[in-house]
Amino acid sequence: MAGADRNAPAGQSVVSVTNSRSYRGRFAPSPTGPLHFGSLVTALASYLEAKSCGGRWLIRIEDLDPLREPPEATVEILNSLDAHGLFSDEPVLFQSRRHEAYHSAIEHLLSEGAAYRCSCSRKQLQANNGRHPRHCRNSNTAISNQPSAIRFALNDEQCQWQDQLMGPQNHRVRAEIDDPVLLRKEGFFAYQLAVVIDDIEQGITDVVRGSDLLDMTAQQLQIYHALKATPPHWLHIPVIVNDQGQKLSKQSHAPALNNGSPVNNLFEALSALGQQPPQSLLTGSVDAILEWARTHWRRGAIHLTDR
Ligand code: GLU
Repeated sequence: MAGADRNAPAGQSVVSVTNSRSYRGRFAPSPTGPLHFGSLVTALASYLEAKSCGGRWLIRIEDLDPLREPPEATVEILNSLDAHGLFSDEPVLFQSRRHEAYHSAIEHLLSEGAAYRCSCSRKQLQANNGRHPRHCRNSNTAISNQPSAIRFALNDEQCQWQDQLMGPQNHRVRAEIDDPVLLRKEGFFAYQLAVVIDDIEQGITDVVRGSDLLDMTAQQLQIYHALKATPPHWLHIPVIVNDQGQKLSKQSHAPALNNGSPVNNLFEALSALGQQPPQSLLTGSVDAILEWARTHWRRGAIHLTDR
């Protein structure tokens, strides 16, 4: 499959299919809180990559877990993106409205033997070094009257793929021990499933996201292959950290962006991406700073830091 080749290790001869599809990128926040500076940096990097390639840029709200998502967060995020001039080229997709698609993908994976029901608790798995005491992978039947999750059955492999910024990646994937949950016992669909299904559905060719998700990629590649779909290119940018070295997030109490000063925020975000915007942009408009950023975007200027 041509798509798999695009993530082959560097140095290997590969046939590029990049030109056969036009660039489609996306920003896919989980609405666990309002947009903060770290998420603006990711949104802006994915937007500028798409625009500098003449591509389309989409927004997708990954609202999979109502227990972790304050009801107002989605509107806050969308308002914040608007205030910063970052508009989706197509209607925003909400994962909370995509359950049917996730269900049919799971049915398909179950029927192919690429997914299985699992009623092991986290405690049981820990006590068994990650192996499933009930041998769930082999039995594929739910233990009646016990709630079960559905997991993806990984293959053991040393996965090599190419990150568009960070270069060659080499990741060990362990069958059974690392098998990711696709549908949680509580009935919520999991990120690993939904992200792949929706990137396929939306025809995403290029994913730009934070390097905290780098380790998810090898598993996602296996899900693409199980669904016989072409994986996107991935580009992971270093995450923005606070003074204590923690990733800016709801957990680290990252403050919400002030939508009243979008030009300043964009200026800071461009600086964090190593783009060196001229000071004169600070007195201009959102449109002017975005216009400058689209024409001057240099992926190679992003500072690579240790993860
Ligand atoms: N929804 C994820 C997050 O907010 C990002 C998913 C992705 O870009 O693959 O961290």
